[in-house]
Parts: sequence; structure tokens; C-alpha cells
Amino acid sequence: MRRRHRISKEASSKPLRGCTYVYEISSSGKHQVCKTAFCNIHAISEERVRRFCKLLSEGKSPHDMRGKSIPGNTKSGLVIYAIKQHISSFPVKISHYSSKEYHYLSEKLDVKIMYSLFQEKYPEMSAANYRFYLKVFREHFSLSFGLPQVDTCATCEELDIKLKSPFLNQKAKKVAEAEKCVHLRRAKKFSAKIKEISEIIKADKAGDLGAICIDFMQNLQLPCIPVQEVFYLRQLTISVFCIHNLKDGNATFFVYHEGIATKGPNEVCSFVLEFLNTSLKGVKELYIFSDRRSAQNKNHTFIRMLSALTSLKRFRHIEHYFPIRGHSFLPCDRDFSVLKRKIKKYDRVYTIKEYVEIIVTSSCKRSFTVVIADSISILDFKQWWPKYFKRNVLSQESYGKSVLRDQKTSFKPSQFMNFSYASDNAGLVVARPFIDSLVKHHFRVLNCTLADLVLPKNMVYPAGCIPINQNKIDDLRKLQNYLPHTEDCQSFYNELFLWPTCVTEVTQNQPDD
Ligand SMILES: [Zn+2]
Repeated sequence: MRRRHRISKEASSKPLRGCTYVYEISSSGKHQVCKTAFCNIHAISEERVRRFCKLLSEGKSPHDMRGKSIPGNTKSGLVIYAIKQHISSFPVKISHYSSKEYHYLSEKLDVKIMYSLFQEKYPEMSAANYRFYLKVFREHFSLSFGLPQVDTCATCEELDIKLKSPFLNQKAKKVAEAEKCVHLRRAKKFSAKIKEISEIIKADKAGDLGAICIDFMQNLQLPCIPVQEVFYLRQLTISVFCIHNLKDGNATFFVYHEGIATKGPNEVCSFVLEFLNTSLKGVKELYIFSDRRSAQNKNHTFIRMLSALTSLKRFRHIEHYFPIRGHSFLPCDRDFSVLKRKIKKYDRVYTIKEYVEIIVTSSCKRSFTVVIADSISILDFKQWWPKYFKRNVLSQESYGKSVLRDQKTSFKPSQFMNFSYASDNAGLVVARPFIDSLVKHHFRVLNCTLADLVLPKNMVYPAGCIPINQNKIDDLRKLQNYLPHTEDCQSFYNELFLWPTCVTEVTQNQPDD
């Protein structure tokens, strides 16, 4: 049977058995009423009535607490600030590629190492766990580790996406497949050419032929010490330029630090010329293989130097081959991996001399020679060539009124994969869009008489050095306590601490293409 509840009219009336009572306050006074009936009439829960009764007895008014509770895993602003400060304290290198700016941290770091360094530096911030540190790293920074992957093949990526796309029909996919096949065949031409030339060179008994591969290694750092402070400080950059001789498989490395020279066309031209004059004296026909970095070896300056060498009859013939971007494996890369494996075994390297010893002893199969480059050996090729050569030239095939304006070919080094130079056709560059292609473009670049043409004699850095960034020198000073007290090491760093300094960093790559 359903129990019936009655609301009593008077506060003093006797309570019903089995019922709980609450007080209803109205304009006419305070009444004791049945709780269940009161809740049912007002459609409110008993819990709410209980809460209000409690607040009433305490003389308080209710507050809306919705959305105001703080989750247990919330981190304070201080923790986020500390993490941001910590991540920002690592030196960042900036790389420009396709007009985009990429920021990257040392290749020796990763987020786990960074987090362990954070724990050591901020022991009081125990609230920040690894997952939270990673979250801040991902959400507030756009950083990657090591060198960015800039040398990937855009064509391969694009065609792969087309081949996997669910929106393209079979016909379109077949076209993409054919395109990729042609592209890969062209890419293979470069390595096939290296193989072909190597065999010809090795068979040559007269010593008339020579072939070299040139490339810069990934920068090294000094000092290399197993101290955690190193992660927060900028180190001295060491450049290594390799010339690999295809005839005997030996390599020559030009090693220098950033206070000596940069990594531009002047350096590449000077090192290659020095190598040709010392190691390839009797060679008359030269083959060069290099990657297509415009800041270093695929540019107007290097082309003019090779043209001058043939025009001046130093060489009878020169061929320069470039790979398709992203398909540029050179024999130099094999030398670099041998070297890197050896360097990994050393956890302490303090001076350039030590790197030289490591390089010389790293290969047992081939001989590695090291040249410690100095500023005065770098000649100013960039200022030299505009005096003797033209920059903007139309191909000889484009001459005349019969060729439409949009079909005229101008001399843009980035558009070609192969350049040929010959002494019997002084000042002429033959450019091919692909290796072994039947299409040829002839450009007459020489802008003076042969009698006037001379190789450069002026130095790029007559002062004998380049200023180093002041902050970097300050950072190097902070590592002073970790340097051994040997004469070599002390004199190397004492010289650096007195090096001319500048506020802005000297840009290492200056494309002129
Ligand atoms: Zn490709």
C-alpha cells in the first residue's frame, strides 16, 4: 500500500511516524513539512534538500561550483615556464631550404636525454613527468634533431603518393608508374657513369685521365667531451671537404674551423685547384662528380673556373656530372661513413690536430690524406669571374629571330646535369639536361680575349681569419675547465679566445646560383 504524505500546516503539529521532516520557510513563517512530499512537489533531490539545510544551519548561501574543480594532473604555470625555458636553452641551428626555415637541435640529443637533463637542472619540478615534457616540446616548439632531410627526392615522393592514392584511376596510375620508371633510370645514370669512368680510368696506362668526386662532410664540433653542459653550449664548427680520387680510391680531406673559412664556392674552387695542381699534375682529361648543392659546387663560380682551366689549356677536356636530387650517393659518402665510425669510438676530441690523426688512421684499405686549410690559401673566385666571363648568356641554339622568345634557353646551372668543357673550344660550355642526353645547349661564357684570361690571385680573407660569433667564444670559455693542460690544447684554445669576434653569425652557405 502506498504511503500517503501529508504536509502539516503548523510547525508545532506532531510528526507522522516513519516520516522525516524539514522546515519550509515562507512569508507566513517557518513550517515543518514532510521531506519526501516536499521533494516530490518541488521535483528536487533529497540530497539537495540536505545540502541546503546544512548551509542554512551554517548561515551560508550556496555557490555554483560547476566547472571550477581543478583536475589532479594539472601542472602549474611555473612548471610549463620552466620546461619552456629549458628547451629554449639548447643551441639551435637554422637551415634554409625551399625558402622555409628549419630549426634543429644537436643530433646527439633526443627528448629523453633532454628530459633527464631537465630533471637534473630542476629537481624541485617533480610534477613534470616525461609525457608532459614531451607534450610541451611538441605543442610549443617546432624543432627536430640532427640535420634536416633536405636531400630527399621530390619527384619520387610525389609519384609514390600518386601511386598509392585511392582517388586516381588505373590510367593515371599507369602514367605515374611510367614516369617513375623513367625517373629512376635517369637517377641510375649517375652511379652508372661513376662506375663506367672508374673502369676507364683504371685501364688508362698513360696517366692522361683523372676522375674525382667532391663533397663536404657533415660538420664536426669541437671540443667533443662527455659533459652534459656541452648540450647547452655552442661549439666550434669544423668543416671537412673531401676529394676522392677514383683512380686509386684514396681521399684527401681539407679540414678547417669556422674562423678560417666558410663553405662556399671560393673554398670549393681553391681546394679543387690545389688538388689538381699537386695530385693530378699530368692529367689532361678530367671527370668530376659532385652533388648539386648550388652553394658549393653547382654554381656560376665553379663553372667559370673549369672553363678557365680548359681555355688556358691546363686540361684538354673536363666533364662535370651531377645526380638527380635525392639520388646522390658518392664515393665520398663511403669515406665519410668510415670516418664517422672511427670518430664515434672517441669520446674526447679537443683540437683539430686530434681530428686529423683520427682521419689519417681511420682507413686501413685506402689512404686518407689531410690538408689543414688556412685562410690565405682561399682565393677570391667569386669576385674574379665577372671580369672575364658573362653571367647571362643565351644558348647558341637560341640565337636568331626564328626561335620564339619562350623557347630561348638561358644559362641556368640548376637546370642541367652535365657540363662539358674543351680546350679546342675555349670559353664554350656544353650543357645537357640529363647525363648522356642527346639534347645539348652551347653557351659561350668567355667575355675577354684568351691572352687576357688569368686565374685569380686575390685572397678572400686577406686578414687571415674570419670573425667568430662572440656568444660562441663565450660558450667555449665556459668549457675551459674541462680542457686538458697539454700544450697543444691550451695553445689552440688560447688562440681561439683571442680570435676576432662579431655579433652576427657568418653564414656558412651563400648560394650564388
Ligand atoms: Zn627520385
